[in-house]
Amino acid sequence: MNERRVRAMSEKKTALVEEMTRLLGKDAVLHRDADLITYECDGLTVFRGMPLAVVFPATTEEVSDVVKWLYAREIPFIPRGAGTGLSGGATPFGGEVIISLVRMKQLLHVDYDNREAVVQPGYINLQLTNSITHKGFYYAPDPSSQANCTIGGNVAENAGGAHCLKYGVTTNHVLGLEVVMHDGEIVELGGVPDAPGYDLLGILTGSEGMLGIVTSITVSILKQPESKETALAYFDSVEDASYVVSDIIAAGIVPAAIEMMDEIAIQGVERATNPVGHPEGLKAVLIMEVDGIAAGIEDQINEMVNVCEHHNVKEIKVAQDDRERGKWWANRKTAFGAMGAISPAYLVQDGVIPRSRLSEVLARIAEISAESGLRIANVFHAGDGNLHPLILFDARNEGETDLALEVGTKTLEACTEVGGSITGEHGVGIEKKEDMRLVFTEEEIDRQLAVRDVFNPNNLMNPDKQFPKPARCGEVKSAVGSGDAYQTVGQD
Ligand SMILES: Cc1cc2nc3c(=O)[nH]c(=O)nc-3n(C[C@H](O)[C@H](O)[C@H](O)COP(=O)(O)OP(=O)(O)OC[C@H]3O[C@@H](n4cnc5c(N)ncnc54)[C@H](O)[C@@H]3O)c2cc1C
Repeated sequence: MNERRVRAMSEKKTALVEEMTRLLGKDAVLHRDADLITYECDGLTVFRGMPLAVVFPATTEEVSDVVKWLYAREIPFIPRGAGTGLSGGATPFGGEVIISLVRMKQLLHVDYDNREAVVQPGYINLQLTNSITHKGFYYAPDPSSQANCTIGGNVAENAGGAHCLKYGVTTNHVLGLEVVMHDGEIVELGGVPDAPGYDLLGILTGSEGMLGIVTSITVSILKQPESKETALAYFDSVEDASYVVSDIIAAGIVPAAIEMMDEIAIQGVERATNPVGHPEGLKAVLIMEVDGIAAGIEDQINEMVNVCEHHNVKEIKVAQDDRERGKWWANRKTAFGAMGAISPAYLVQDGVIPRSRLSEVLARIAEISAESGLRIANVFHAGDGNLHPLILFDARNEGETDLALEVGTKTLEACTEVGGSITGEHGVGIEKKEDMRLVFTEEEIDRQLAVRDVFNPNNLMNPDKQFPKPARCGEVKSAVGSGDAYQTVGQD
């Protein structure tokens, strides 16, 4: 960067820090490199960029004031929750202001009669269930990161989880949103069932921080089921376990959850912090849960056992109490992090397929692993057909990070080849922008960009995520690759 540009950037940053400090207070603004480094990526650590600053508004009005100021100066900004995203959604390219919502972490209201709760965006997912469990209620969407991720981030990614097979993903539980738009305007969406007009709640949910900053969320809460049973089924073959998954659903049972881990994943969880003592040498384990009124539960478990026996199950165990059930779920829900016990690094992929094609796609993933020489563990929401190949690699080996990314794309191709898609729940972010072309034509991508333009006409709000380059004619700004500056791309 030439001297004049450096000076201009530095003046811009000084003005930004002064104004943000005036608006939010000294403790609510980070701008030194040593502080900013925490925010250079989310849970997908292979892409990084330095933000210009990070600000921590505590109210909707403060979010709005910050956005108005940035919008007027054409400074790009990124909303951020807990930073557990796995597709680079909250990762800066360089030069954006991160608007962290973690100070907005209150449970605002619970209406048990109408089964609704209102939370601020920085409220942690699991806290909601913990806060209402004494009244016999819970919040159903349960991403495995639920002890850390925010409900604002869940809305932005339309997060799923183990129990979304029966209860639906985040969008099925969002009843209303308060949103700060690209220019700072505050709007309320939803709140009325089947309201006339477009389903704006549906558009905002899963929009990856590009269409608005969510500042309050009304969600539905559910009565805890009267009864619940959880079973572990062990298999000597991935194919058998895969057929069990599709046959259980085909039999008309709708379990609350069916999760699968393969041999490498089992090795990881058994060496990490929540082992349960799965036998050695297993090729696959299924965790299956049924819930509902007590009268029907035993029949459902028996039917699932029948299906497992039909597919050569080695052993089935039913949890004896909540303690044992909790231990099994902790083992499964900490499986991503457990890969650290068997590999220096790993890349989480997130494809989705028709569940009847599970066996075939897992076989293809095994081939991709053999061809590349990288181990791939599979731990995933099998009932939803939502695969998570975990590509194990060592970033210290030259070229291996790129190879892992290439292998990730190949696993997604394996999904799209059988009519699946490139993300089941983690979003597109930075990581899968180019992979959008596996499922959409250029024209379809352009149509989606036209929707983005309605909400985010200057592409300042979480710029250049989700959609592939080349940017269309007239694209205004991009923060890509410019270090602490951002540059104009596209042509008029
Ligand atoms: C170990 C582990 C397990 C996981 N398991 C699951 C799983 O089972 N299911 C699943 O769906 N995901 C899972 N994830 C991914 C991740 O936890 C989810 O995507 C989660 O919803 C992200 O929430 P967050 O608060 O961390 O958001 P962030 O990572 O901070 O942000 C994610 C995206 O949301 C946007 N955003 C954040 N807050 C707001 C807001 N208030 N308004 C508008 N946009 C906003 C950001 O700009 C970004 O694009 C897992 C991650 C990890 C690390």
